[in-house]
Amino acid sequence: GVSISGLHKSYGDNEVLKGISMTVRPGEVVCLIGASGSGKSTLLRCVNRLEDPNAGTITVGSFETTHPDVDLDAMRRHIGMVFQQFNLFPHLSVLENCTITPRRVLKQATSEAEAEAMVQLRRVGLEDFAQRRPDQLSGGQQQRVAIARALTMRPQLMLFDEPTSALDPETVGDVLAIMRQLAEAGMTMLVVTHEMGFAREVADRVVFMDKGLVVEEGPAADVIGNPQQPRTQDFLRRVL
Ligand code: ATP
Ligand code: MG
Repeated sequence: GVSISGLHKSYGDNEVLKGISMTVRPGEVVCLIGASGSGKSTLLRCVNRLEDPNAGTITVGSFETTHPDVDLDAMRRHIGMVFQQFNLFPHLSVLENCTITPRRVLKQATSEAEAEAMVQLRRVGLEDFAQRRPDQLSGGQQQRVAIARALTMRPQLMLFDEPTSALDPETVGDVLAIMRQLAEAGMTMLVVTHEMGFAREVADRVVFMDKGLVVEEGPAADVIGNPQQPRTQDFLRRVL
């Protein structure tokens, strides 16, 4: 799981995270919602230390990611991340996109890496696309490859930052279905999303952030269905 305590992050004079504390228990799916600029991406990027927090502690499993001596490479091996932009290597096949990190980082033999990649490509329904290049796939298919690629590292935690925001509406559902399957398989997930239907149906808990603070959190049905805080009510009125 993930445990965040007293997290602060500033860019110059702009304090973006103002003391965030939250947890994601093992096997839990937590959706992070909030207006643009509220600090959701920054929070996610602090978890795998793409950003250095100014204060606070974060632990992911047995790693204290904010500890000065943490082995960042070892830690990041256990954390999968999927972004709005899929960031696939355009000159590599789908299969090669899924084997390059296990080969380089885990030193897997090509045959072993390919076998594992095919397991994950099957899981996202793309085993027949292994030899294609990313530009021969739809946006939704590319995002499913990005998910398969992350899974080849057998992460204990998956971070998603608006994974469907850049997709054509007709492919959003396929990606959300894969994420739902992953949740049902017991993956620990922290998901930034504007898909309130997904949050309501799949998340164990929803955390609403505003201006760098957690304003409200609780079971999805409560936070989305019956929000208590005026700022949560305002936000949901605008997005639902
Ligand atoms: P969105 O829904 O639009 O993705 P967000 O909740 O993910 O928004 P962040 O991207 O975390 O918000 O940004 C929070 C604030 O931090 C914004 O004011 C943004 O301009 C600022 N910010 C983010 N990254 C940087 C950076 N690298 N340098 C300076 N300021 C930054
Ligand atoms: Mg963001």
